[in-house]
Amino acid sequence: MPELPEVEVTRRALAEELTGDRLQGVVIRTLKLRLPIPSDLPVLLQGRTLQEVGRRGKYLLFRLDNGWLIIHLGMTGHLRVLPASMAAGKHDHLDLLFGGGRILRFTDPRKFGTVLWSGGEPHAHPLLADMGPEPLEEGFDGEYLHALSRSRSVAVKQLIMNSSVVAGVGNIYANESLFRSRLRPSRSPHSLSREECGALAVAIREVLAESILQGSTIMNFRVAEEPLRYHPLDFRVYGRGGKPCFDCGGMLEEIRLGNRSTVFCPHCQK
Ligand SMILES: [Zn+2]
Repeated sequence: MPELPEVEVTRRALAEELTGDRLQGVVIRTLKLRLPIPSDLPVLLQGRTLQEVGRRGKYLLFRLDNGWLIIHLGMTGHLRVLPASMAAGKHDHLDLLFGGGRILRFTDPRKFGTVLWSGGEPHAHPLLADMGPEPLEEGFDGEYLHALSRSRSVAVKQLIMNSSVVAGVGNIYANESLFRSRLRPSRSPHSLSREECGALAVAIREVLAESILQGSTIMNFRVAEEPLRYHPLDFRVYGRGGKPCFDCGGMLEEIRLGNRSTVFCPHCQK
């Protein structure tokens, strides 16, 4: 599943490639995604100029001069800039035609992605309205986490994966940031001290920022013809259950929390 860093790297690449370009046409091959693609999208987008590519959590926000195109990549979606002559495959559901014979193509084998239109401010859209602060922006820090965690009874890992608490922290980065901050994923949020909340907020920001930097370096900010797929090469815990901890050499433990795979070091994480 594309996580926040991958979406952010995609955003940067698309912003560089397409900002200021005029949309010359839209081809929809299926309306049936997680939510139906609006059938009037071609009318709404035709002739409009892409002003900006933004992001909120894992949603990409394409600002046109008459509204916003909102895209979520779901489990398996990706966006590529391709020559318009490139034949469409079975899972290519949407093409946006830009100048210079280029298309922005949305591909999604499992169709859990979302393509929506918002005539007004997208942050008020029902999908985005309840989202918590962006982890890399002001408003997300240890004080915020500490204040909010006093009344929560779920495990801390579930807390930070709740998008109304903080936007866009998925399973991979929840595992990694808890390891980095030395906190056990099953800890009760109200047992966390101010210092521990501070360390966790810093760890979340660091793992996301490092991953964005790494992905940006790999992609060199260009949208390749191959789908953007990268993950940091050095996960410390994610996907490493039963393997030795890089820090203490003990065996990493894997459990299920909120029905998601959770890996931690019982020695290093308290
Ligand atoms: Zn360890």
